Amino acid sequence: MHDIVIAGGGVGGTVVANLLAEELAPEISLGKVRIRLITDRPEHVYKPAFLYLAFGRTAPTAYRRPQRELLHPRVELVVDPVLAVDTSQRRVIGDSGQAYAYSRLVLAPGAQVVPERTPGLAEAGEQFYTEEGAARLYRRLEGFTGGSVVVSVIGVPHMCPVAPLEMIFMLDAFFRQRGRRDQVELIYTYPINRVHSNPAIAEWAAPELESRGIRTETFFNVERIDPQQKVIETLEGTSLPFDLLIGIPEHAAPPFLESSGLTDAGWVPTDRHTLRVKGHEGIYALGDVTDLPVSKAGSVAHYQAATVAANLAAEVRGLPPAARYQGKTFCFIETGTDQATFVEFDYDHPPRPVRPSRWIHWAKMAYNQSYWLTARGVI
Ligand SMILES: Cc1cc2nc3c(=O)[nH]c(=O)nc-3n(C[C@H](O)[C@H](O)[C@H](O)COP(=O)(O)OP(=O)(O)OC[C@H]3O[C@@H](n4cnc5c(N)ncnc54)[C@H](O)[C@@H]3O)c2cc1C
Repeated sequence: MHDIVIAGGGVGGTVVANLLAEELAPEISLGKVRIRLITDRPEHVYKPAFLYLAFGRTAPTAYRRPQRELLHPRVELVVDPVLAVDTSQRRVIGDSGQAYAYSRLVLAPGAQVVPERTPGLAEAGEQFYTEEGAARLYRRLEGFTGGSVVVSVIGVPHMCPVAPLEMIFMLDAFFRQRGRRDQVELIYTYPINRVHSNPAIAEWAAPELESRGIRTETFFNVERIDPQQKVIETLEGTSLPFDLLIGIPEHAAPPFLESSGLTDAGWVPTDRHTLRVKGHEGIYALGDVTDLPVSKAGSVAHYQAATVAANLAAEVRGLPPAARYQGKTFCFIETGTDQATFVEFDYDHPPRPVRPSRWIHWAKMAYNQSYWLTARGVI
């Protein structure tokens, strides 16, 4: 009996479970394979919607679905937050105290934000990387009549590397539409010497920011925020006052991975092609939790799920696992509230943003709707 356990019911975990259920249907019906997805909540949340939630442009019913509805009937769903992985005994321990034995394990618990790592950020800053944060930011934006708005990338790597750019472009359009752009100064900060970690995206974004009158500050590493004075202080010794701060907090892997000895420098050490966890037999990782030099993006988790599912199916059948992930990434980039561009790239080919258009914006809107088919492993 092959016991495949998947830890985490987000994009990567859900897609890999559904692909395996389809591919291994004969073995599952014969009782030779069992697929269990262990996650920490009964609902599946589509995180990219938080960008729109921050502008009041979506509702919870649009980005939540019961996890059970998204899973193939041949996948067993267990809602039990993972507390530990006992790699020597090959079992996952849940919060309930239950132990789940595995012959193969897929780690897909994503990344989480840790604003508390930056002094003053939780008290003084808004963010849109969680549902609560995005809903709160919406209320702040609705009541914001004028002053300086700083979008500051504090922690790198973070989920969806282009989302902070999307946020500042959407803020520009939002304030223009409300006739308030003259009363608002928009400032975008980034920790290295350009406006994005990817050189090609930085080269494209810098003139886009400038043409909208958005001020940029690079080499800007936030050390602390003074909530009383409303000032950001940096490691470089500079300070920047703000009326509204939208900070992209540091991210981390869920704590159970470190306490189980499955991280190195904070993330799960993963082979860039096979997606096997380095130093651990029978364990794969995908999505935001890996240490790979790829975007922490849903599209990445989706493409990686296909590699992991193909290799697990091969292993179950005693065949060599031959599928390779080549770094494929696809990201739409909103450049306002009704225009967007996109980038597609991999380990060997850099991104080349195309001219923004309404069509691409509508393609992103359409993708947001069809995501539920992606999660089911259909597209
Ligand atoms: C504002 C925003 C905008 C974004 N926009 C885009 C975009 O336009 N395009 C794009 O491709 N990506 C985008 N992303 C990124 C995308 O959402 C993530 O990269 C993607 O969800 C990662 O998939 P994952 O499966 O690794 O993790 P997740 O989808 O985060 O899933 C992890 C799952 O594991 C569960 N889990 C966590 N801890 C435990 C535990 N201890 N035990 C059991 N289960 C656990 C979680 O509840 C969750 O269900 C965006 C993200 C944000 C926040």
